[in-house]
Amino acid sequence: MKERAKNLYFHADGDSFFVACEVSVQPQLRGKPVIVGGDRGIAVAMSIEAKKLGITRGMPVFRIKKLYPEVIILEHHFDLYEDIQKRMYDILLSYFTEIEVYSIDECFALARPSEIKYFGSEEKLMTELKKELTKKLGVTYSLGLARTKALAKQASKLEKPNGLVMLLTKADEVRALKKTSIKDVWGIGRQTVPLLERLGIKNAYDFVNYSDEVIQQKFSEPVFILKKELSGEPLMEVENNVDPRDQKSIQSTSTFHPASTDSKIIWREIAENAEHACKNARVIDLVTNKVSFFVKDSDFKYYSDEVKLREYTADPGIILNAIEPKFLPLLPKRERIRSTGVILHNLTRPENIQNDLFGKQEKVSKNLRIEETADKIREKYGEDSIIRAASLKKKNK
Ligand SMILES: [Mg+2]
Repeated sequence: MKERAKNLYFHADGDSFFVACEVSVQPQLRGKPVIVGGDRGIAVAMSIEAKKLGITRGMPVFRIKKLYPEVIILEHHFDLYEDIQKRMYDILLSYFTEIEVYSIDECFALARPSEIKYFGSEEKLMTELKKELTKKLGVTYSLGLARTKALAKQASKLEKPNGLVMLLTKADEVRALKKTSIKDVWGIGRQTVPLLERLGIKNAYDFVNYSDEVIQQKFSEPVFILKKELSGEPLMEVENNVDPRDQKSIQSTSTFHPASTDSKIIWREIAENAEHACKNARVIDLVTNKVSFFVKDSDFKYYSDEVKLREYTADPGIILNAIEPKFLPLLPKRERIRSTGVILHNLTRPENIQNDLFGKQEKVSKNLRIEETADKIREKYGEDSIIRAASLKKKNK
């Protein structure tokens, strides 16, 4: 596998998002001409079938009713859209750590080399993510992956709806830029388009190849930055703006070389995953009562199981005790395991836990405080200063 040293940028854009959300809860509407916007008096979002009839954004509802009586006209349900958006970010957080919410149906993320490597390749990461989004949310997103934010944004537009476009080579980029008309370039305003066209710039490729000096002289800085971004120079950052305390799951994974069939080595990785995930949960003060763990073999086959805990915790000792009886039965015989992971689900803030389990919960909180103290010692004296009994025991077995 080719190793990539640099970050990539990810962009996702919901396809006919408001309509898709409505259809996800009213499946009988699938395949029908549907618009959202009845409460505003204009079409705000259209299904593909409605677009095919010739309905465009902003068309008055009274005209639609007259011309296309078969069209189903719905009102907005922002609670539903926000709920799907939140669940979308929850899924994304198990792929990427830095995510920027750009609008209700659009976001960027930083795809670090380690995050890509974990899935095996850019393509595997993107297809797995796409599958999970579609299956769990019932709506589709068009996805882009590229060397810069601006390129990722253009990439997701290229094969809408339900697209997946990766621009991983210079040739991919050139092809995409040539296909993108200058008026469709993200961030180029309506007044700027004719000025660029007057210079003979028809598409994004012409724009990228135009003289830097002239663009810098004649246009504002954002236009110049965009030019550089489209030529593959990352100048725009992903502005991480998802509140980490809102996440519903945290995962810790590791890939090891060489792949192994040794259950002790594999358990040690699981134990470290659990400690690491719990530490991340404690840093932002979240606790879990459901944990899943998995192993992947050299062919990327995935084996997983989960445990429900009797109380909320972020203590890896409690979690590892719960996982242990299910660990050996899960391991495939003779398959070489190349990666492992532990995912904490149902994350919640300790202040939100009901008090009827108070006695038990108090004991857990005490353990948590011990763990927090251990974290502080690790911070001060290094990761190895405390090795948890749970993983130590297994290491020496
Ligand atoms: Mg959209």
